[in-house]
Amino acid sequence: MREAPHWGPRNPISSLHTHSRYCDGEGEIREYIEAALAEGVGAFGASGHAPLPFPCDYAIPLTALDRYCTEVRRLAEVYADRLPVYLGIELDYLPGLSAFYEGELLRRDFDYLIASVHYVAGPGGTPWTYDESVERFISEIQARYGGDARPVVEDYYRRVCSMVDEVADWGVPAVVGHLDRIRLWNRDDRFFPTSGPWYEDLVETALAAIQRAGLPVELNTSGWAKPAGQPNPDLPLLQRCAQRGIPVLLSSDAHRPQDVAARFDEGMRLLALAGIREIAVLSGRQWKLAPLSPRSAGPS
Ligand SMILES: [Zn+2]
Ligand SMILES: [Zn+2]
Repeated sequence: MREAPHWGPRNPISSLHTHSRYCDGEGEIREYIEAALAEGVGAFGASGHAPLPFPCDYAIPLTALDRYCTEVRRLAEVYADRLPVYLGIELDYLPGLSAFYEGELLRRDFDYLIASVHYVAGPGGTPWTYDESVERFISEIQARYGGDARPVVEDYYRRVCSMVDEVADWGVPAVVGHLDRIRLWNRDDRFFPTSGPWYEDLVETALAAIQRAGLPVELNTSGWAKPAGQPNPDLPLLQRCAQRGIPVLLSSDAHRPQDVAARFDEGMRLLALAGIREIAVLSGRQWKLAPLSPRSAGPS
């Protein structure tokens, strides 16, 4: 009798936020799956950056989207007896693109979406990516907001709220990507205070929208290696997720195969600190909760 071979040491931890050469990552999707098997995660998902209806150098070109989907589905069959492999996409949310999302993305029948905000814009302004570089962040704030970062942060969280409202109606399991990533350049509160009432109000409003929409949030461990040096979200925000009963799952946001479960052990410790005892897993096109056990962290 065959044992369930995908029930690895990290099960029920899955790795569903991964990029590859189809977008701005390195390596073949097959290499990520092999790395996921070696790490013992319970499931793998590919989540390339979704195309946008304008030029974008980090996303999967619309012309390559079918090839990407076909490749992931083919690999899901190849690895069917070893590891569940899911077809996902990291949706880049911008308001006003509903027709594009529905016409070009949702008809491809993704198993799940990672819904993320990478673009912000002032009122009536052209969208720009806050995560491109600190120089760009500074120059946009100077040019558009007279040096005050607060309107950018407000715009970011406003977009998170409209994103979760919209995505919740699509009938595809979605998870909120790197919830507080707007803090990317904000180490030591360089650009805006994160302990003041206005920032905390924005976060609380976003969490209320996420809770209402019934979406899980990812703990994105890649933030530890980024300039802010903190995971997304950070511990206080995770604790608020726990208080509100918002489900959480662990993500690496890997752009190289060897990072498929990067910093998952630290992530597990942070979940425990936040009082999170269950983790969201994809099952039958829905999020379900599975208990975390000490084994899930893998060998220390
Ligand atoms: Zn992202
Ligand atoms: Zn990503």
